[in-house]
Amino acid sequence: MSLINRDLKVIWHPYTQMKTALPPVPIVRGEGACLYDENGKCYIDAVSSWWVNIHGHAHPYIAKKVAEQLNKLEHVIFAGFTHPAAIELAERLLQILPDNQQKAFYSDNGSTAVEVAIKMCLQYWHNQGKPRTKMLAFKNAYHGDTFGAMAVSGRSAFTAVFDNLLFEVEFIDLPNESNIQSLKSQISNLKSDLACFIFEPLVQGASGMLMYETEYLDQLMAHCRNEGVLLIADEVFTGFGRTGKPFACDHLSTQPDIMCFSKGLTGGTMALGLTTCAQSIYDAFLSDDRLKTLFHGHSYTANPVACSAGLASLDLFLEPATQANIDRIVNSHRQFALKIKDHPRIRTTRQTGTILAMEWETDTDTSYFSSLRDKLYLYFLDAGIILRPLGNILYILPPYCITNDQLSYIYSKIESALEEL
Ligand SMILES: *Cc1c(COP(=O)(O)O)cnc(C)c1O
Repeated sequence: MSLINRDLKVIWHPYTQMKTALPPVPIVRGEGACLYDENGKCYIDAVSSWWVNIHGHAHPYIAKKVAEQLNKLEHVIFAGFTHPAAIELAERLLQILPDNQQKAFYSDNGSTAVEVAIKMCLQYWHNQGKPRTKMLAFKNAYHGDTFGAMAVSGRSAFTAVFDNLLFEVEFIDLPNESNIQSLKSQISNLKSDLACFIFEPLVQGASGMLMYETEYLDQLMAHCRNEGVLLIADEVFTGFGRTGKPFACDHLSTQPDIMCFSKGLTGGTMALGLTTCAQSIYDAFLSDDRLKTLFHGHSYTANPVACSAGLASLDLFLEPATQANIDRIVNSHRQFALKIKDHPRIRTTRQTGTILAMEWETDTDTSYFSSLRDKLYLYFLDAGIILRPLGNILYILPPYCITNDQLSYIYSKIESALEEL
């Protein structure tokens, strides 16, 4: 039986309507920005496999480090025990994060990193005997698929079935020059009840690569800090170079109290989540009262193999060649955006760092369920490029090792699609 038929017999895929979806593409090998099917056809991974891959597939250095770890220690319970990879990864990351970040809490993925951040905030207030229970988030936010993460995400078709089970969250518009004052007063009015403000800094990925200005986010963060509202920067997507700097928060002058990481953390090799926090958050849990403990943990918390993938990925990330690659992609995207921005089929283009998004004209509104989406997806798949538009929003988000030839090929196919579709 073919791989596809075996798959269809037993597998239920994520975000997939199994009745109408096309059969999945079996991938058997990866190298650099390429994923290969059984017949050796290369698919250029222009979405970094759901945004996780930063150094390319099956990177030999990460593979070597992971194998070494696997032969030494595959896993150990992380309550009451520790191990070198978890310690070293925390030490090295805290060194390059905003300097108020002092403690690292591991979990398994982006959604759990967000769940941990939410619990830290709610219990921070509870432990001090002045409970604040409301949260503030942006409309259209995406923070993950578990219930807490869904609750702080914008209400949408994806959450509709569960809406009445999600806890109440105050949603505000993205800040800009004209609404910043009214957003600030909104926050001041709510402050006595607001535990925290969670946001995707600079770019809202899943909602369509929506981008907003550093200056107004900074103002909003500073205002929250003044009002005693804790700040959670969800860098699950923006972390590790996507915005052109190592972290989106490197563009900001106000430091968040808590940060969430996952996608690029292991270079896309292993599942790992990380929530870091300021000393003041950690200190609010120190007590002789056992009930003030952060009661959260997962079976695979700080898995040594995942941590060693994180360390190897960090080695590569900190090489000057990686930043040079990031700068190369930023410039290359910028030139391509200039070239196509006035095309009649393009409504608008936007770019933050290595993320380039192009909103296509459609007769319907911008929507995830746009039919143009399927046409674009299949057009590029056929051409050996993985681009997975969010509705009519096409975006390129490559691993940093992508070559200039591969980038040019992607750009040229987008130009042909503009003429042919
Ligand atoms: C993807 C994403 C998450 C969820 O991460 P998972 O590992 O898919 O659970 C959370 N926040 C942001 C900003 C994301 O892009």
